[in-house]
Amino acid sequence: TRLFETDGARNPVDLLKRVYGYSAFRGQQQAVVEHVVAGGDAVVLFPTGAGKSLCFQIPALCRRGVGIVVSPLIALMRDQVQALNGLGIRAAALNSSLTRDEAIAVRRALGSGGLDLLYVTPERAVTPSFAEMVADIDIALFAIDEAHCVSQWGHDFRPEYRGLDCLSSHFPGVPRIALTATADPHTREDIVERLALNGARVFTSSFDRPNIAYEIVERDQPRQQLLRFLSRFKDASGIVYCLSRAKVEDTAEWLNAQGIRALPYHAGMDRALRDAHQDAFLKEENLCLVATVAFGMGIDKPDVRYVAHLDLPGSVEAYYQETGRAGRDGLPSEVWMAYGMADVIQRRRMIDEGGSPEEVKRIERAKLNALLAICETAGCRRQAILAHFGEAHPGRCGHCDTCLKPVETWDGTEAAIKALAAVYRTGERFGAGHVVDVLIGTVNEKTERFGHVDMPVFGAGKDLPARTWQSVFRQLLALGLISVDHAAFGALKLEPEARAVFRRERQLFFRKDRPTGKAPRGQKSS
Ligand code: ADP
Ligand code: ZN
Repeated sequence: TRLFETDGARNPVDLLKRVYGYSAFRGQQQAVVEHVVAGGDAVVLFPTGAGKSLCFQIPALCRRGVGIVVSPLIALMRDQVQALNGLGIRAAALNSSLTRDEAIAVRRALGSGGLDLLYVTPERAVTPSFAEMVADIDIALFAIDEAHCVSQWGHDFRPEYRGLDCLSSHFPGVPRIALTATADPHTREDIVERLALNGARVFTSSFDRPNIAYEIVERDQPRQQLLRFLSRFKDASGIVYCLSRAKVEDTAEWLNAQGIRALPYHAGMDRALRDAHQDAFLKEENLCLVATVAFGMGIDKPDVRYVAHLDLPGSVEAYYQETGRAGRDGLPSEVWMAYGMADVIQRRRMIDEGGSPEEVKRIERAKLNALLAICETAGCRRQAILAHFGEAHPGRCGHCDTCLKPVETWDGTEAAIKALAAVYRTGERFGAGHVVDVLIGTVNEKTERFGHVDMPVFGAGKDLPARTWQSVFRQLLALGLISVDHAAFGALKLEPEARAVFRRERQLFFRKDRPTGKAPRGQKSS
């Protein structure tokens, strides 16, 4: 029998207390729940750990019929179903890992109204056979979890998600709720557009994780630097991310030799061993998990005290997700990254030599640059990260390295004005590479073809090297004074905030360039 059926009417607060044992909703959970219970569509953009699951689980329990949850990973489904069953909720998953008999049992339960929640993969949700299977049963709602997977802007694009726009036409009147912890404006627009959620109410909450302290250091002796970072933690567990499987193995082995209990985790490992390492990480108090990004999605370990990156992540979204696995319990946690010019060169090469079509490569380059802007900011890192997600923060958080130890800067106000003027005069139609060419007065096919060689801004920035201008643009981007128009192939645009700089009402200080020699290749983005 069902825990929550004892007193008839299903009220969200009552379910929260009786089924989940929580005393109150957090943040906007209740607003989302009420909106969806009433039949509205919703887009929920809450950071990791905010409690998105309840936003669809409780409405599914309140409404008539079964809630269908689209989820990208079978492992993730399994964990959620297990947890729900533990609470007395009738949940099941339908996916390729089931035996024939198991699948039949799930179908039977579904047909007889014996399920509250059914988890399916996106590819299954859009098949005609699925539509047929649920044709005669009541559907409480569709929840589209990890909705950023629909966007190429997200860090985890899955083409199967693109088919989910058909749910609104196949199942009119069934509320849909899309959820993600990735909420940069491009991904957000993509979710609304690609999932046909134009009429949905959008719920956002702050992406600030005040208990996380951010630090990004210039890499010089990475292993020693890592060891120094790890020595701050006693009897604490954390994650060290590396780009390659080989580096995961090597780093774990080396840490063990240094007396730090470390286990490797990557997709190339034997499944059983990988699961064993994951379980050890979830259970033990003092374990360093060295992993590729294959590790982490759906992991709910509240007391991860640190996350270290030995390589640059692929994007700000990925960095935010990966660092966001620290401190879900709200206690102070530290995240640390060692970053070097080699990363930039390697990442650029991965993009350039990757198999993506050119327009996707442009997106990848723009994403990399946005992350570099955060690495290079002279201002508060938290402020820069949040600005990326369209969220204003006053800065000086006091819990990031740049706040704690201000970096050397130069007054870049005049340079910024020139840079912004060059963007404006060339019509906000060009990427940083071309605008830098205009500033330093490069005569080439493009500057000639567009008549830029005859403009007053042409060569106005001759006094500074191209590399400095690139860094100026990256920092302007980090400050939110310009944005990259991804629809227009990475063209730079002025943001309204740039006006105060033009009027000399706002002074700008830029992080001093690192010594030359190991500088990245000049980049061309348009
Ligand atoms: P998200 O999917 O947003 O990352 P989860 O739904 O996994 O977050 O929730 C994170 C944690 O917070 C879970 O352990 C969950 O049980 C807990 N939680 C969610 N809502 C509440 C609440 N209202 N009160 C207390 N704990 C909650
Ligand atoms: Zn700060």
